[in-house]
Amino acid sequence: MGIQLFKAKYEIEECLDEIRKCLEVGWTGLGFKTVEFENAWKTYTGIPFAHYINSSTIGLYMAVEILKQHYGWEDEDEIITTPITFISTNHAILKSHMKAVFADVDATMCLDPNSVKGCINEKTRAIMYVGIGGNIGNYKKIVELCRENNLKLILDAAHMAGTRYYGAIPGNEAEVVVYSFQAVKNLPTADSGMICFKNGELDEIVRKKSWLGINKDTYSRSSNSGNYKWRYDVTYVGEKGHGNSIMAAIGLVQLKYLDRDNAYRRQLAQWYYQKLCNYNEKIKFVRIEEGCESSCHLFQIFAEARDELMVALNQAEIYPGVHYASNINYKMYEYAKGTCPYSDYVSDHVISLPMNLYMTYGDVQKICDEIIKFITR
Ligand SMILES: *Cc1c(COP(=O)(O)O)cnc(C)c1O
Repeated sequence: MGIQLFKAKYEIEECLDEIRKCLEVGWTGLGFKTVEFENAWKTYTGIPFAHYINSSTIGLYMAVEILKQHYGWEDEDEIITTPITFISTNHAILKSHMKAVFADVDATMCLDPNSVKGCINEKTRAIMYVGIGGNIGNYKKIVELCRENNLKLILDAAHMAGTRYYGAIPGNEAEVVVYSFQAVKNLPTADSGMICFKNGELDEIVRKKSWLGINKDTYSRSSNSGNYKWRYDVTYVGEKGHGNSIMAAIGLVQLKYLDRDNAYRRQLAQWYYQKLCNYNEKIKFVRIEEGCESSCHLFQIFAEARDELMVALNQAEIYPGVHYASNINYKMYEYAKGTCPYSDYVSDHVISLPMNLYMTYGDVQKICDEIIKFITR
């Protein structure tokens, strides 16, 4: 079986009980558990609005679209973003007919504020920030840059479920925060996400836009006073982007255990670090900012001969990953080639070591022993 990079762990009986409730009331769609989950998420994060969606990918796209329309941004206006991310982040910008301008990352693997500063011009409208691996990076400086330059902040928090910064869940500084609850994320549900606007007016809009632009959802129409209110209006050309009650049922259970699970991830990270820190001439670590309590979605190192190391680990039945190849390598972003040298380094050297809740101290030891064997070969 070997040691997998990701393997989601569920509170199976509790999840089945929550799903059973949906089946018993005959409601698996939008409403019911999705409302419960939104409320639980607002309570957990302290962010005032939350709308449950079927993926973070659709959420990022709707986030850019809605801000663009609301603030009157033009096609080809610019959003500053990172090359080191899952492709959803940057596709959201292109799909909205805006320009993705790549700034470089720093040793935190998140956007480098100095590089971002150099990208700001009169066409810049927003910064898209990704907390890679659950790390906060130089988020605080990016928030300041946004304030100083009147830019909107979009936070791709796909890795950040449960990340804290000086004890608080970050996000209230951003115009919109988008979380992912996809199958391998820290709060796994199979597929879903949450979009959290700061402005209640935009929350109202995304609720309609994620349901094709229809102004009343089927659940509220059927449940209000018993009779099914069939009449509705369509106010936007929207998406089928909302979440459903089966996914939300799983999310509700997993949320209860998110802090416990993230604490164990931090323990795994600490074990890795303890074992590998003496080899810091051959291995570099991602810088974790002071005050950051990371969700530890990933544990990443930079290694020389990364590709050979991957092969060696695979031979020992250890299956790491890479997060991420620079998005500038893909043809639709090639125009930015050569602009982000540190990202190119990351892209060629980064490796994500297995990080799943089934792992033990012994597993971490075994992985580290194999790495040490390789780098001291
Ligand atoms: C996983 C991920 C997404 C997309 O999430 P989905 O819920 O699968 O659509 C977006 N951004 C980042 C950084 C991710 O890791």
